[in-house]
Amino acid sequence: MTVPVDDPDVIARILANTDALLLDFDGPICSVFAGFPAPVVARQLAEILTEAGHVLPPDVAAATDPFDLLHYTATLGGKEAELLNAAFRAHEVEAIHSAEPTPGAHALIKAWKGTHRNLAIVSNNSRTAVETYLDLYDLHQYVDYIAARTAANVSMLKPNPHLVSQAVDALGAQPARSTLVGDSTTDIEAANAAQIVAVGYANKAGKVEQLMEAKAAAITTEIQILLVSLHVV
Ligand SMILES: [Mg+2]
Repeated sequence: MTVPVDDPDVIARILANTDALLLDFDGPICSVFAGFPAPVVARQLAEILTEAGHVLPPDVAAATDPFDLLHYTATLGGKEAELLNAAFRAHEVEAIHSAEPTPGAHALIKAWKGTHRNLAIVSNNSRTAVETYLDLYDLHQYVDYIAARTAANVSMLKPNPHLVSQAVDALGAQPARSTLVGDSTTDIEAANAAQIVAVGYANKAGKVEQLMEAKAAAITTEIQILLVSLHVV
């Protein structure tokens, strides 16, 4: 089966059948680590663990994705996991100030609310980071619900459907009439597991194939296409 890419008609049909729009944060809304590169964050998190006396496996010590360190630390148990999550959260909040908004994202968020339908952000990033971003750009009023990382749910991040289902339930939507837009295979997997519609946002070379393989219902390479498909530009 071929997955439609950048097809405004397909996207328009999906959006017409959507009551609850769920947006992943890092990617569809902004590039969180545009000005504070994720590998720098990963290195600083590795340092915290090393200074606390942990000998990291080579692949963890060399990780460039902070989430790799977060998941590793979860295996070390309560105190360390809490410490690392807090440190990561602080770095994420700092990164928000140099995060780069995705072209069309803020307009889409506002236009969606203009159609009197619900919108949620579903993110593996910390809730505090997402809220900091919404404060910074004065977007809180357009977002009905935030399902994001807290100290309590680190083990249930996407690809686990937990956050997706949490948002769908909170918005009182039917899964079949809910759509998640995400830029990672883990977004598509979480959406499919939660039995909602998955739209892939392929914002980098090679992602079209990855998102297709993860079984996205449709793929867009620009958030603008969703906006066009709402017929508001
Ligand atoms: Mg993302």
